[in-house]
Amino acid sequence: MKVLVINAGSSSLKYQLMDTDTRDVLAKGLCERIGIDGRLTHKVPAKDLKHEAEIPMPTHAEAIQSVLDALMSEAHGVIRSVSEIDAVGHRVVHGGEEFAGSVFIDGAVMNALEKCIPLAPLHNPANITGIRACQKVMPSVPMVGVFDTAFHQTMPERAYLYALPYEYYEKDQVRRYGFHGTSHRYVSGRAAAMLGRPIEELKIITCHLGNGSSIAAVDGGKSVDTSMGFTPLAGLPMGTRSGDLDAGIMEYLMNKYHMDIKEMLNVLNKKSGVLGISGVSSDFRDLDDAAAKGNCRAALAVDVFNYNVKKLIGAYAAAMGGVDAIVFTAGVGENAASNRMAIASGLEFMGVEMDEAANNVRGKETVISAAGSKVKVLLIPTDEELMIAMDTAEIVSGMK
Ligand code: AMP
Repeated sequence: MKVLVINAGSSSLKYQLMDTDTRDVLAKGLCERIGIDGRLTHKVPAKDLKHEAEIPMPTHAEAIQSVLDALMSEAHGVIRSVSEIDAVGHRVVHGGEEFAGSVFIDGAVMNALEKCIPLAPLHNPANITGIRACQKVMPSVPMVGVFDTAFHQTMPERAYLYALPYEYYEKDQVRRYGFHGTSHRYVSGRAAAMLGRPIEELKIITCHLGNGSSIAAVDGGKSVDTSMGFTPLAGLPMGTRSGDLDAGIMEYLMNKYHMDIKEMLNVLNKKSGVLGISGVSSDFRDLDDAAAKGNCRAALAVDVFNYNVKKLIGAYAAAMGGVDAIVFTAGVGENAASNRMAIASGLEFMGVEMDEAANNVRGKETVISAAGSKVKVLLIPTDEELMIAMDTAEIVSGMK
């Protein structure tokens, strides 16, 4: 089945056309500056081909049309007509409590998505716009929504409830939702496959460490806790996001520097994390370079990040009553051997023993713990697009 995977942002749109039988990426690319002017970057991996063009994209509909034109073009196309696209899979950031799995998109689902907008006012409107644009340009192609939050809907109440007055949960849906669910689901499934054991038997801690970072406790294939919360601002310190902090700090800083809540949130979302501590960069490569040249704050930022990851691994092992495997994924998790080593060392007391040589690798599925390590440590590149495509193919073929 050929599935077009769409990840729509407010002014950008990423796409991948995948063959779910062979798992090949037939083409992929990015529309940028939607609503401003419009730029398309289109790649065909099998031919090592890259095509760039300035195309007017006043709305997402023109962006999708330009994607279809590129996919069908004589010069750099991979299909002859839209009818070759069997289905479209949309990444949707927030499914609230409405969606605990991927769904076929119909009118009722669109209404439920609208209801989730207050929970993700920056992301969901863009996702909905992307869906509507596809419906306009490809009215007869079935579409599926895959949610970042869905995998974490199995969390028990004790993990998702905040200690706030209960009515804020009941009336206002204030609770931990968690994000990166598609990634945590994918890598925990791959971990079970790599270990050759049924996922139902395994306790896995998945560390998605990238520009945005989150950790999940996956017990028997189900997410039972995760570090992001009501929003993706919570949990670990990230590239530019603060992660968890004492809410009282906000009042203190807002009073002292006469900031309103918007300015405060801008600081917490865009100027904090490892960028905020280091004053150097949100990118761990820059931090490693600066630290190697003696920049103490860059080294401190990396240390704070690693320490918080390690602490949560301990917490989630306690929450599950043990751990069989720890998985590292996403930009930092897949590439930064030094971060993985710093995070895992010191966890020998709970049966984690790293293999330094095996850990000296990037971007491929590998066991990086020592042969005798009780807890297996795995590097697994994430593939959210593949997961979206496979879910879409499964749901659409089940309807035929
Ligand atoms: P992601 O959000 O998953 O795309 O991850 C992006 C982040 O991964 C970047 O901001 C970098 O901090 C980090 N990253 C990518 N490559 C490396 C590398 N070779 N070493 C350390 N960090 C890396």
